[in-house]
Amino acid sequence: MNIILLGAPGAGKGTQATKISERYHLPHISTGDIFRANIKNQTEIGMLAKSYIDKGELVPDEVTCAIVKDRLTWEDCKNGCLLDGFPRNTFQAEELDKFAKIDAVVNINIDFSLLMDRLCGRRVCKECGESFHVSTLNGATTCSRCGGELYQRKDDNPETVKSRLDVYDAQTAPLIDYYTKKGIILNFTGTEAPASVLFEEVAAVLDQKIR
Ligand code: AMP
Repeated sequence: MNIILLGAPGAGKGTQATKISERYHLPHISTGDIFRANIKNQTEIGMLAKSYIDKGELVPDEVTCAIVKDRLTWEDCKNGCLLDGFPRNTFQAEELDKFAKIDAVVNINIDFSLLMDRLCGRRVCKECGESFHVSTLNGATTCSRCGGELYQRKDDNPETVKSRLDVYDAQTAPLIDYYTKKGIILNFTGTEAPASVLFEEVAAVLDQKIR
C-alpha cells in the first residue's frame, strides 16, 4: 500500500508519518529529510537543495522526482511506502503516477493561523527527528524520547515560513483536488490537540483500508 501524507508545513505530517509508519510497517520517505541529510553530508544534491530550502522555495522537480523514483525501487518499499512531503505540486503528482500506484492520501487540513507559531517554535531532535514546541520544553535542550540534541531548522524562521506557506497555497493545495477527483483522499483536521488524538482518527480509517 502506497500512502501520501498531504498538508501544509507544520500541519503535523512528520509526527503522523512516524506513527503511521510504525503501525503499518511502511518505510517513511520524507523528501525534506532526504534533502537535509544531503545538506549535512555536503553532497552535490545537498548543495543545490540548500539554496532553495533556505528561501522556502521548492527544489526543482527533476531532482526531487528522480530521488523519489529511485528510493521507491529499494527493497523496503516492496510492500508499499509512506510519502511525506512528496508530491508538492501537480507536475510531481503526475510524474509519481507514472512510477507508483497511490492507494490513499491522508490530507491534514489546518487553520493557517496556527502554523507560524508552530513552525517558528519548533525544535527537532537531531537523532530521532521527533518535534517539540519550545513552549513545552521548559528550557530542555535534549529529546525526551531518545536524549538526542534538539535544534531549530534553518527554514523555521518567520520570513522563510511565510514563503513556505505561500508555496503550499499556490502549488501544493491544488493536489487536494487532484486526489479528490481520483477518489483516494482521506480528509482530517489538525488542531492544537495532541498528535495522538489525530492519529487515532487516522488509524481508525486506515485500519479499514489496510487490514
Ligand atoms: P519539509 O521537511 O517537507 O518541510 O521540506 C523542507 C523543504 O525541502 C521544503 O521547503 C522544500 O524546499 C524542500 N522540499 C521537500 N520536499 C520537496 C518536494 N517534494 N519538492 C520540492 N522541494 C521539496
